Amino acid sequence: MNSLQNLHTHTTYCDGKDTVEEMINAAIDKGFGGIGFSGHSYMFYSPSYSMSLEGTEKYKAEITAMKEKYKDRIDVFLGLEFDEYSVVDLSGYDYLIGSLHYLKIGDEYVGFDRSVEEVERIINIYFGGDGMAFAKESYRQFGELTKYGKFDIIGHFDIITKNIEKKKFFDTDSGEYLKYAFEALDSMRGKIPFFEVNTGAISRGYRTSPYPMKNILKQMKEWGFGAVISSDCHDSKYLDCAFDVARELLLECGFCEKYILTPSGFSAVPL
Ligand SMILES: [Zn+2]
Ligand SMILES: [Zn+2]
Repeated sequence: MNSLQNLHTHTTYCDGKDTVEEMINAAIDKGFGGIGFSGHSYMFYSPSYSMSLEGTEKYKAEITAMKEKYKDRIDVFLGLEFDEYSVVDLSGYDYLIGSLHYLKIGDEYVGFDRSVEEVERIINIYFGGDGMAFAKESYRQFGELTKYGKFDIIGHFDIITKNIEKKKFFDTDSGEYLKYAFEALDSMRGKIPFFEVNTGAISRGYRTSPYPMKNILKQMKEWGFGAVISSDCHDSKYLDCAFDVARELLLECGFCEKYILTPSGFSAVPL
């Protein structure tokens, strides 16, 4: 079985650069056995990053047609990257990724999947300059994810560490940080079977290592979460970006296998 695949793929239906068919062809050129699409669920608080409601219907129809068109060459899957505060229908997908990109603060939805400068601004305005308070509130909100649906994959669990190599807004080795992170993770235990090792921040120049960080990965291993390797791809050039780095990281943290999606469901394969 060809286990090379990516289940976290964006297209022109949301904030990606390539069309569905361009991505499929890039995946075939790279020798992939499968590709799954995970358009951003419609966010009324962030329409420019997400699929529109009408676009979501077209997205579902197009990918369903592509499954048939390419069925002899590659497995195509229909997924969704759900943002925690999206209000959308979650039925009809092959798999769901559950993510948090916005904090709900009062009546505002504050996007924190942003540059160092923007995150610094958010921490100053909403958290009085206290980076750990930002981490605490982010994990508190992400810890509520399972109230919103039944997800297969936890999306970029510690995305709040996106800029940590450039600016240490909080200490990711501290007991306090890990307490907040593990409380969120514990809330997903037994409810969301898989997490992703996500290399998207590498291709976009934010980081040199994938999410999650090692201290989180070791806890995920201990608690029995299964690993999926994904590139959070917004540009077909980077469809398999740093997959070798993700594999090494998983091996270092005690994982021996990863999970892939097949037409009959998720399946473990050796790393
Ligand atoms: Zn995301
Ligand atoms: Zn994504």
